[in-house]
Order: sequence, then C-alpha cells, then structure tokens
Amino acid sequence: MPDNKEQYFDILIAGAGFAGSLTALILHNQGFKVCVVEKGRHPRFAIGESSTPIADMQLRDIAVKYNLPWLHDFSRYGSWQQSHPEIVCGIKRGFSFFKHHPGQDFTTDANHKNELLVAASVDDIQSDTNWMRSDVDAFLVSKVQEAGISYFDLTEIVSAKRNSEWEFNCICPEGAMVIYAGFYIDATGGGFLLEKLTGVKTSSDSFLTDSFTVFSHFHGIARWTEMLKDANIPTADFPYDPDNSALHQILDEGWIWMLRFNDQRTSFGFVLSCKEQSLKGLQTAEIWDAMLAKYPAIKNILKDATLAAEPGKIIQSARLQRKVDRCFGPGWAVLPHTAGFVDPLFSSGIAHSISGIQKLVLILKEHFNNPEPLFEGLKEYERSIFAELKLADQLIAGCYRAMPHFELFTAWSMLYFAATIAYERRLMRKELPGYFLCADDPYITDIVQKSYIDLLKILDKPQPSKEDITQFTNLIRERIKPINTAGLLDPSSKNMYRHTVAVF
Ligand SMILES: Cc1cc2nc3c(=O)[nH]c(=O)nc-3n(C[C@H](O)[C@H](O)[C@H](O)COP(=O)(O)OP(=O)(O)OC[C@H]3O[C@@H](n4cnc5c(N)ncnc54)[C@H](O)[C@@H]3O)c2cc1C
Repeated sequence: MPDNKEQYFDILIAGAGFAGSLTALILHNQGFKVCVVEKGRHPRFAIGESSTPIADMQLRDIAVKYNLPWLHDFSRYGSWQQSHPEIVCGIKRGFSFFKHHPGQDFTTDANHKNELLVAASVDDIQSDTNWMRSDVDAFLVSKVQEAGISYFDLTEIVSAKRNSEWEFNCICPEGAMVIYAGFYIDATGGGFLLEKLTGVKTSSDSFLTDSFTVFSHFHGIARWTEMLKDANIPTADFPYDPDNSALHQILDEGWIWMLRFNDQRTSFGFVLSCKEQSLKGLQTAEIWDAMLAKYPAIKNILKDATLAAEPGKIIQSARLQRKVDRCFGPGWAVLPHTAGFVDPLFSSGIAHSISGIQKLVLILKEHFNNPEPLFEGLKEYERSIFAELKLADQLIAGCYRAMPHFELFTAWSMLYFAATIAYERRLMRKELPGYFLCADDPYITDIVQKSYIDLLKILDKPQPSKEDITQFTNLIRERIKPINTAGLLDPSSKNMYRHTVAVF
C-alpha cells in the first residue's frame, strides 16, 4: 500500500515491461527520483523474446556505464546459465530460414537453395538468447524494488493533467492515488495510454509492411533438425543447430517463428500478410488450421505439440504496424515500443528499445531542467525513432515481397544483415551509436530505397526469371560491398554464414 495518497517524483514511468524497468533502474542510478506504474502484475506472459548481438552489446555497455553489473550476465547464454539458471531462456546462435512451398514437404539441395543460416556467435556459451519474458520482466521488477524505486502494480492511470508538473490520477488496489511527477515516460508498449493522456494518436497509415500474427507457447514441438535428419536432408555443414536459433520457416504469405527455451517450451507463431485473401474473415483457429493444411512439414512440426499453461491459448493480433504521431511533448516522451512497431522478422524490438532508452536517458540527464535544450534533444530523439522505423519497414516489407522466391529473399535480407553489422561496428568501436541500424547513414538508406524499387520491378512480372534473380543478387552484392565485412552473398558460402557479428 502506498505510504501516502499523494506521491512526488521527478519521473513517472508507465509500464513495467523489460524496457520500463531498465529505464527506471538507469535513471534511479543517475539520481532521479523515479516511480514505475504497471497496470498488470508480474509474472505475466509477454511476447518479444529473441535477443540479438546488438541488444547484448548494449546490455554490457549499460552494465558498466550505469553501474548495473548484474545485467552483464544476461548478455550471453553461458553467463546467464551460471548466474541465473532459474530464469528461463534459450540458446540463440543466429537466424535460420527454411523455405516451404504449399502442398509440398520441405526439400533443398547441396547448395542449400531453400536454407539460409546466419550465425551470430561462435559457440553456445557466447550465444545470444531467447528470453522467457515472463521470467526476465519479473526479475527486472524485483531489481526495481530492490533498488528502492517506488513500484505500483495493478495500478491504472485514469487521467492526468499538466501545469508546471504532471498530476496523475490513479486507481490502485487500495483505492485512489495521486502521483505528481515532472516528466512522464510512456513504456506501455502501445499508444492507448499516450492517447488518453496527451491526445497523441497512433496509426498504421505510413507503413509498407502489412502483417498480423497468431501465436502461443507450446510443449512438444518437434526439433526441426531431427525432422531434417529423418528426411535424409544433410545438416553437417550447418554452422550451428538451427533449433538453437531464431528459427524461421518461410512461407509464401508470411513466416513462422520458432524460439526454443531450455525448459522444453517453444514460442511458435505465424506472421502473415494481411493481404492474404484466403485468410480473410477466418477465426484464429481457422487460420491456424488453414496454414497447417497448406504446409505439410509445418503440420508435422506441431503434431505432438500441446499448449503451454501460459498463455494457454492461441492469440491473434491486429495489424502489427503502428506509429505514434509524436514521440515527445511538454514533459513527456515515449520509449521505442510505444513509439511504434513494424514486425518481428529480424527480432530487432529488444535492441531497438535499449538503443532508445540509452538516448533518452542521456537527454534527460543532460537537460532535465533546461527546457530549450531538452526540447532540441527530444526532437532529435523523435527524428531518430521515426527514421529507424522507416528503415525497418522498408527492409521488412522487401522480405515479405520476396518470400515466395527464396533466392530473392536471401539476396534482399543481406541488406538487413549488412546494416546490422555496420551498426554493430559502431558499437564495438565505442563510437556514438547514432541511429539504430545506421538509419542515419545516407549510403545505407539510399541502397535500401533503390533496391526496394528494383525488387518491385522484378516482382511486377508474373514470374521473375532466373536471370532477373541473378542480376538482383549481383546488384545487392555490389551495393553492400562498402559495408560488407562478413562475406555476405559470397557464393562459396552457399547460404551458410559461420560468423557474421561485427569484427574490425
Ligand atoms: C508478435 C511480436 C513478436 C515480437 N518478437 C520479438 C523478438 O523476437 N525479438 C525482439 O527483440 N522483439 C520482438 N518484439 C518486440 C518486443 O515485443 C518489444 O520490443 C518489447 O516487448 C518492448 O518491451 P517494452 O517493455 O517496451 O514493452 P512491453 O513488453 O509491451 O511491456 C509494456 C508493459 O506496460 C504495461 N502496460 C500497458 N499498458 C499500461 C498502462 N496503461 N498503464 C500501465 N502499464 C501498462 C504492460 O502490462 C506491460 O507490462 C515482438 C513484438 C511482437 C508484437
């Protein structure tokens, strides 16, 4: 129960997902008096599980910079297991893609024409992780409480007004509560609260990508590697076991994520184009069944699967793409996942959130009491987030367009991997990171833009020819050359990339 019915803080953070809690911990260590208001209660199911080398580099950086040494252990599978084996996670050695065709079993050839494996770490110990978000988020909240930060859960902000400071009217289990704060950070991961408190709207209008998802957690999902072996498909030259990765099954109308945890649970979800006519008007279970009927290998993967207790059902989302009209205003700012979202195809949400947290914290630290520089800082923060969402949208929209033609998909996706590696290099060199995925690099944004137009030209034809695909692949190889430090699109790699994380 709150000590007083009225509470005073420098900063109120709404939302105790991993990002809200991490922001609170950092700001607290910077001397701000912070509170966190969460409408739910931990542990609770959450999606957004697959981490990346960028996220992990940033966690290590934050651990040192903001005196949160325990955070370091969560940046690699090995140290996570040593320090916190009770917090469920999974090994994520890289990104794996397998292309399926309707009505057919999965096939490939010696050149891996239907496979793409992009390693991000050298072994399981150094590996990135899939986060069991219910565990990770609950742990971070325990750290928030341990640090003495005021934490109000099961608390709803019903209204707010701002004069010289914010006055939030809340309902908590004990009744009504008023919280006063100088600044409000929206970490709720969506625009509902923001619109209620500030009138700022969220929309999907500006996106090229147009997808939705049906997903859940399961027990008993077959190991894909075993299924390949049973089908006599060689796996010997895979750089890692794809079941220990962000495993993507690529379909014509979308893709599937399979993220395995070390307690036998697996996160499994279809992400499908909203334009897919055959799915229009279907209920969640009907969509699920339609996809299994269409792709026999996927049906096989799920043949012994049962729903895990949490969430205990298959969940369907609305269209995933959304973006707020403003990322900041007088006395407020949003974290990246409130600002917007494109699609989980490249698992970039966690890393994007952490990059935004770092930028916002610096701005608040330097300019909290100086309205003009604060405004300028937040304006630039908004520019960065909008540019980042735009780049992610183009990269992901291109993937969806290319999905029916896997060679085009592998060529196109190298733009994403090249941009990612370029950004990792900035982080490793301890340069100012700039925009996430180098969305501030005109060379990168320009090649993505040009290549998107070239891709659409090819896909305008009823069926892209072998020659079109080869030409497009050569074009991408040429365009990424100045930033390609990992041998991407080197024909001798045959779609098997052993280690791509930035080296310099
Ligand atoms: C289908 C899907 C799959 C994804 N997969 C990946 C992935 O594999 N890898 C990746 O990096 N990212 C992924 N993402 C993105 C990822 O989910 C986000 O980047 C991440 O969850 C952001 O964390 P957060 O703490 O900002 O928000 P959230 O995790 O959304 O947490 C928000 C918190 O705010 C609380 N809240 C909501 N409303 C209120 C309110 N009014 N008042 C108070 N509290 C409130 C919620 O209860 C919750 O605890 C995915 C996203 C989706 C939609």
